[in-house]
Amino acid sequence: ESFLTRLRLTEPHLRSFLHVSDSVLAQARELDEKIQRNEELGPLAGVLVAIKDNICTAEMPSTAGSRVLEGYTPPYDATAVRKIKELGGIVVGKTNLDEFGMGSTTEASAYQVTANPWDISRVPGGSSGGSAAAVSARQCMVSLGSDTGGSVRQPASFCGVVGLKPTYGRVSRFGLMAYASSLDVIGCFGTSVADAGILLHAISGHDRLDATSSKREVPDFSAQFVSMNLLESKPLKGLRIGLIRETLDDGVDTGVTSAVRTAALHLEELGCCVTEVSLPSFSLGLPAYYILASSESSSNLSRYDGVRYGNRVAADELNSQYMDSRAKGFGSEVKRRILTGTYALSAGYYDAYYKRAQQVRTVIQKSFKTALDEHDILISPAAPSAAYKIVEKKNDPLAMYAGDIMT
Ligand code: GLN
Repeated sequence: ESFLTRLRLTEPHLRSFLHVSDSVLAQARELDEKIQRNEELGPLAGVLVAIKDNICTAEMPSTAGSRVLEGYTPPYDATAVRKIKELGGIVVGKTNLDEFGMGSTTEASAYQVTANPWDISRVPGGSSGGSAAAVSARQCMVSLGSDTGGSVRQPASFCGVVGLKPTYGRVSRFGLMAYASSLDVIGCFGTSVADAGILLHAISGHDRLDATSSKREVPDFSAQFVSMNLLESKPLKGLRIGLIRETLDDGVDTGVTSAVRTAALHLEELGCCVTEVSLPSFSLGLPAYYILASSESSSNLSRYDGVRYGNRVAADELNSQYMDSRAKGFGSEVKRRILTGTYALSAGYYDAYYKRAQQVRTVIQKSFKTALDEHDILISPAAPSAAYKIVEKKNDPLAMYAGDIMT
């Protein structure tokens, strides 16, 4: 009740949710009854979880922030959602996002712009801005987002909460609407690292419905926090931390660099050995990402043709029906990605762009691997600045893309 009250009071200012469940209290009461009957409860019993609207939920609309899926309710739950429910978690609702996850502010949602709870004249980040704002404003306890190239980490940073992009394959993508399949991961938001760890533990693991999900065993991610004695003088003794030099260069706000350097000092006090490390291929990440992500998305979004998937705009002739459905269904940022991606994949340009970006991706992987041979953990800011003002970047897509340099 207290969370729902808070949600009702804050939501008109924040607009984090595209849909709020009407069965939250009924589900909570069921759990109360279970307690009275001395029945065993799952480890997430009563935990209120918000779900990004590009993750399928059987009883709630799932629009991916797009008009093309307006009014669509999937016939099944994403695996991550199913697991949360099986463990007793309660889905509060579906959160706002940039259409299909394409954007860094939630301004590319076809429905509404979400505000940053700390300053409602600013964006919460994106694309999982609704999920970040909802946790930050305590409209729910934890939430799920998706992170292809920063969409959990950057909004978490903008909203002052913990955001975790798990390793690719750790969490099943079954039921996550595809943006760039080779990068898409469902991730977690919480108000503490331990909470994000508990949620990650709940949703991790192999899934026969996602062939790319990992078969590695799932460790108890939060156990270490519970057992760690922070009162010990050097609880992190021996941990080697690399501070990525290129992420603290010119072009990064001084407030951001000083926050990261202060964090590094704390880590040293806790016993870590912190050194600077250079990733020479760092600046190649952004262009490679935008080629790969746009290419994959142009291919993934071809399914929304108004016939197999998505809302249909009726026309006399089949080609016009496809074209009108897509012209009306997709917003301008999505169209920009489709155009860029189709260009990069087309005959004659494929080698120069898509293939080249794949090669660059391998070079970047190698340079991270080398850095991780000598360090246990690498740290960097999540973004070069704090949250932008609403509209500040909206009409300058290149400036918006540039903000993704860290992720
Ligand atoms: N801002 C990035 C983009 O627009 C990240 C998106 C994401 O991780 N879903 O592509």
